[in-house]
Amino acid sequence: MNGLSELDYIALEDQYNAHNYKPLDVVIAEAEGPWVWDVEGRKYLDCLSAYSAVNQGHRHPRIVQTMIDQAQRLALTSRAFRNDQLPLLAKELCELVGYEKMLPMNSGTEAVETALKAARKWGYQVKGVADGRAEIIACTGNFHGRTITVLSCSQSEQYRDGFGPFTPGFKLVPYGDAGALERAITANTVGFLFEPVQGEGGVVVPPRGYLRDVREVCTDHNVLMIADEIQSGLGRTGKLLACEHEGVKPDVVTLGKALSGGMYPVSAVLSSREVLGVFEPGDHGSTFGGNPLACAVAREALKVIVEEDLCQRSKELGEYLMSRLRAIESPHVRLYRGKGLFAGIVLNPEAGGARRFCEALRERGVLAKDTHGNVIRLAPPLVITREELDWMVDRLEDVLMMA
Ligand code: PLP
Repeated sequence: MNGLSELDYIALEDQYNAHNYKPLDVVIAEAEGPWVWDVEGRKYLDCLSAYSAVNQGHRHPRIVQTMIDQAQRLALTSRAFRNDQLPLLAKELCELVGYEKMLPMNSGTEAVETALKAARKWGYQVKGVADGRAEIIACTGNFHGRTITVLSCSQSEQYRDGFGPFTPGFKLVPYGDAGALERAITANTVGFLFEPVQGEGGVVVPPRGYLRDVREVCTDHNVLMIADEIQSGLGRTGKLLACEHEGVKPDVVTLGKALSGGMYPVSAVLSSREVLGVFEPGDHGSTFGGNPLACAVAREALKVIVEEDLCQRSKELGEYLMSRLRAIESPHVRLYRGKGLFAGIVLNPEAGGARRFCEALRERGVLAKDTHGNVIRLAPPLVITREELDWMVDRLEDVLMMA
């Protein structure tokens, strides 16, 4: 090792890195499955999974091997040339999720931006909206990323403050209210962008029937239903896509995070020939999007989800987790909510915020992240065992009983 202590790493980061995050002061050096180790050798159970990017578990051996093999063959061509991995990922991903076409990008935010561009161009070319008039409706409490355009549909003052002017053409409606969506639609509305479960918003599960109602409203008004499944997708809620809980097929889906098992930034937009067909050469692109290393890794990451039956595992263990959580009678907890291995513990206003509970959890060997100030989010890797969940909930119970 290089002789640096945990405090040395923290000091270096604070000195030289922009302070655009406020991480828990744990410096992770190694990981395997649902476990991580810090630079001092302390072991923790990871209950965040890099915001659900590590659904397959850290360093899944099959994904690691694929990455090594592919890196030794070919890493990057740019899309100026073709490569022998992109066509296979496109076919496998489209067949698995049930769409005609995909468009690969890198980060989740880029996938959302791509979906917004597709919806606008579809609006002009196919729906016949007058040039420059396209509107996209999004939800209160959403999180879709932090580029200027994606922030333009955010409600968060903190994310927006200091970054205007924003991109016009967005409207917000209350999350979970399909009637409000219908009332907000005009002849210029081209798309409705939403998360089937709001992750950053505090693991907010919409009322039953919402996704079906949204599908109906979008179909009735010829508006693209754009599901951002970057956090809720790929097994996290107990289904491959969270929209499947209501048997609904969106027109456009964005995926990212676990699309690579956390090994590499890979994202994608999935849709029909009609929608993604609006892109012509030069309309959109990315040097790294669709690179062979990303595609090989994503192909294996998807196979792991299917072959290890991670959706079913998330469903069953999620039900178990929720039953154990609901048995904790803590004075600090207002409610427990979630779907699959995606749970939010909503604290009472008097509880003093979620951060102190996450710090206490960390002292007991569990890494969890506060979100929205008063929610403890639990999203462990889907490969976690029931015994490991029990171990975690025992510690959580301890913490939730603190003064
Ligand atoms: N969309 C959703 C629903 C997300 O949860 C996130 C990240 O948390 C993003 C988009 C942005 O993804 P990325 O951070 O990879 O750009």
